[in-house]
Amino acid sequence: MSFKMKYEVKADYIAKGKRRPGTFITPKFGVLHDTGNPGSTAKNNRDYFNNTPNDPTSASAHTFIDDKVIIESVPATTGKTERAHHVRYQMPQDNALYGDDSNDIGIGVELCFGGKINFEEAYKRYVWYCAYVSYKFGFSPKKWIGHEKLDPDRKTDPTNALKKYGKTYAGLLADIIKEYEECTKEITSAAPKPKPEDIKEADDMLEKAVVINAFPDFPFAELLASRIKAPIYVRGALPSGKIAKEVFVVGGTKDGLQADSFVMLTGKNRFEVAAAVNAYLNR
Ligand SMILES: [Zn+2]
Repeated sequence: MSFKMKYEVKADYIAKGKRRPGTFITPKFGVLHDTGNPGSTAKNNRDYFNNTPNDPTSASAHTFIDDKVIIESVPATTGKTERAHHVRYQMPQDNALYGDDSNDIGIGVELCFGGKINFEEAYKRYVWYCAYVSYKFGFSPKKWIGHEKLDPDRKTDPTNALKKYGKTYAGLLADIIKEYEECTKEITSAAPKPKPEDIKEADDMLEKAVVINAFPDFPFAELLASRIKAPIYVRGALPSGKIAKEVFVVGGTKDGLQADSFVMLTGKNRFEVAAAVNAYLNR
């Protein structure tokens, strides 16, 4: 199974420190966040976290997404996956649902919104990226949960951002599942089914074709081909199988050729071949 790569995922990691300890994790689910900071772009957020590596809160997230870019500030899909700190450790819900803390087995994804950010574009990238993360780490696209569900007393993201644009938390979860299905389906069934016109064309065997023995025969063959409106094939570069219903052999024999009927325009040498073609055209 492959995944349709609609967008580029950019690696722009923050400096190591309290926010990015550099320890590796194996992701089993994802946490949906919004930045809670209207108008700040993915790059703004990445830079802020980069410039304050030892902030006492040690807060971070893997990925920031706006209407233009998807930036991984802590390696998730673009490098060996590291821990980010995006949900408080003492919260019980992640352990109850997924068996461990969000920071230790979860990918934290932040939606940027507000200000000059085109919400529809940012939302599309956010939904696509969450679906892609599920694919990348082999967990169900149903395994995404909002920060608001894990830390309900303090957090309202991502509903906080969604509700400003007429979106809902339930709708977001459904959109991620739908995107996952679309991005995995299109490629696994990529082999195009023949259209009715193609089938008709395949049955429409070429009426006539000219086969020449060698290039010196080409000038006579060309006269013939233009008269009967047929393509010219050079022996040795023939398509396999039957090439036409009626084959005009200009020089050489019909050995190895497949057709319903043959018109033999041959001779012992090039001049006899030319004469045979000429006789046919003037008949
Ligand atoms: Zn959050």
